[in-house]
Amino acid sequence: MSDEKFVGTPRKVTTHVNQNEDLIFEKSSAGKKGYRLAELDVPAVDAAALLGDAVRTDGLGVMPELSEIEIIRHFTRLSTWNYAIDLGMYPLGSCTMKYNPRINEMVARLEGLAEAHPYQPESLSQGALGIMKLLSACLIEITGMDAITLQPAAGAHGEFTGILLARAYHQAQGNPRTKILIPDSAHGTNPATAAVCGYQVANLKSNSEGMVDLAELEKLVTEDVAALMLTNPSTIGVFESDIHKIADILHAKGALLYMDGANMNALCGKTRPGDFGADVMHLNLHKTFSTPHGGGGPGSGPVACKKILEPFLPTPVVVERENGLLGLEFNRPQSVGRVKAWYGNFGMFTRALAYILANGPDGLRQTTEDAVLNANYLRAKLKDTFELPYKAPSLHEVVFSDKLQAKNGVKTGDMGKRLIDYGFHAYTVSFPLVVSGAMMIEPTESESKEELDLLVDALQQIAREAEENPELVQTAPHTTRLQRLDETTAARKPVLRWKAPVAATPLTVDTAAKEW
Ligand SMILES: *Cc1c(COP(=O)(O)O)cnc(C)c1O
Repeated sequence: MSDEKFVGTPRKVTTHVNQNEDLIFEKSSAGKKGYRLAELDVPAVDAAALLGDAVRTDGLGVMPELSEIEIIRHFTRLSTWNYAIDLGMYPLGSCTMKYNPRINEMVARLEGLAEAHPYQPESLSQGALGIMKLLSACLIEITGMDAITLQPAAGAHGEFTGILLARAYHQAQGNPRTKILIPDSAHGTNPATAAVCGYQVANLKSNSEGMVDLAELEKLVTEDVAALMLTNPSTIGVFESDIHKIADILHAKGALLYMDGANMNALCGKTRPGDFGADVMHLNLHKTFSTPHGGGGPGSGPVACKKILEPFLPTPVVVERENGLLGLEFNRPQSVGRVKAWYGNFGMFTRALAYILANGPDGLRQTTEDAVLNANYLRAKLKDTFELPYKAPSLHEVVFSDKLQAKNGVKTGDMGKRLIDYGFHAYTVSFPLVVSGAMMIEPTESESKEELDLLVDALQQIAREAEENPELVQTAPHTTRLQRLDETTAARKPVLRWKAPVAATPLTVDTAAKEW
């Protein structure tokens, strides 16, 4: 590697380049153990006599055998190849990758909560039920809705639950209807949800401001439309200023307004969907209300709704009994049924509640204001460097495009990868689809001005490189352990499972030296 590739790099994250893959993963040698068991103090059991054919006899030899320190070093080493929020910001637009205060983790791990059994009697679960009740009350207040379920395990799962509620509501009126309207800037989960719930998806074009085109909406809303699924602020970070009119147009035809509330980080404490006409919405606790996400979960996507949809909410519902104790009510004849095992991802409820109570109403409002301020700071600093396709005021995120750099053959994905060399996670690349070559940045309220300035410097430097040395950007990243991967093969022929090697390379002094 030439030194020039590191010029301007404010910090270096990963260093381990070009290692022999076999040596990294094949560390096992026969007979090593990372545990010691006490002598048996009961009679030994003959597994074959007990289990017969079910006893596994083949493939036992391929289980890795290592000492404790080898395992610790292996996983610690792997962790240093990763990027982490504890190392720097994730400017990923649409993901709201904010800082998760450590105290939330401590609260979620409190023994009485973390070890509670879901079949514990109600009388011994008052604390857990109280947390669900209080969190529900807070989220109802924040959204301006009337009722809520905490069961769904993710945003997409919340969408599914919300559209099931809409379907059950229309069905109860005699006709579930056939269509769901979805703007072209929507998150991909919206059309997927509509389809999974048995609806046809009708595409609604945005206007030049990136907002819903009211005339177009009037044309498309018929008595066949069950709901419009709308993200507000939209995926380009723009508030739908005609949201009341949108709700009125839908309601006039008996259709519902579903709000994708994944972007509540831009509204929390400032305005409430229930007040501007939404009938049902989901929240992403794992975006707006801290609680970690990524890597497949766990998540939590509560669904809040207006009174008309309340009878259809999933069961069980937390209720207050006559004796003043809290309990779980299962008898709701119109309910769409259970959508998740037990009561939802409980650890996320405690984290979110801790976050909400620690901030309080003023703190949540401040969070929103800071998130919007940070996005607008980046917009102001970078608007002369990258093309800004939509000029409407930004809320919590800003979408640029690679139009200026693409003239030199440098695309959004190239600049995202080059950003890794500068010690940042990439922004969101090529989404939303309404912007060709999109570069979507959401800084969240967590980042300081110093961190934002570093990101601005890095992006401006990358834009200069795109002019002066496009190849440098096109071949990034250069500082990571692995360089450009073949993304097509990775997608078409994914290798998702570790497989035992035919013969492991024996570890010698020579080969071990190469390992680090
Ligand atoms: C993140 C997101 C979703 C999906 O949420 P998951 O928890 O990832 O299922 C849906 N809509 C929007 C706008 C989002 O940003």
